[in-house]
Amino acid sequence: MSILTDSAAQRSSQWRFGIVAGTAYETPRARTLVIEVPGWGGHRLGQYVDVCLRSVDGTWTARSYSITSPPQGALLTLLVGKSDSGGMSRHLADMLEKGDRIALRGPLQRVSVNMTYLA
Ligand SMILES: Cc1cc2nc3c(=O)[nH]c(=O)nc-3n(C[C@H](O)[C@H](O)[C@H](O)COP(=O)(O)OP(=O)(O)OC[C@H]3O[C@@H](n4cnc5c(N)ncnc54)[C@H](O)[C@@H]3O)c2cc1C
Repeated sequence: MSILTDSAAQRSSQWRFGIVAGTAYETPRARTLVIEVPGWGGHRLGQYVDVCLRSVDGTWTARSYSITSPPQGALLTLLVGKSDSGGMSRHLADMLEKGDRIALRGPLQRVSVNMTYLA
């Protein structure tokens, strides 16, 4: 059974731009990004977004990040852990600044753990 309406599912699959409203280092290697997404309709616990950046050579790269803000929050927050040789996480963790535009799509399906495997 799908909980998403057709229009919500369509909106989630489309790329759109958000604006970085703030950032905060939680540790030297992990940074929270606060993103304002016009028309963001909320999300459910466990959902994630795909974030897309354009490199200087013009190519686009997408990576997934779990949503850490409360489901009804107006702002979206992501917690990015830096991989030393990872292109996207280093950029998001070190270089993104307040006011930057960021392309994203979502919210995308929930990540859940099947507890029977843990028993
Ligand atoms: C559903 C989902 C949710 C996620 N949620 C989060 C989240 O909330 N927070 C978060 O931080 N991440 C999350 N991730 C992981 C995230 O999507 C990225 O994979 C992560 O940020 C690394 O991306 P990158 O481009 O920096 O690294 P990549 O360039 O993709 O590299 C990945 C790893 O491979 C290594 N590597 C790269 N190139 C080489 C090479 N040539 N030889 C050897 N090793 C190499 C890098 O050191 C790095 O550790 C999530 C992933 C999924 C699928």
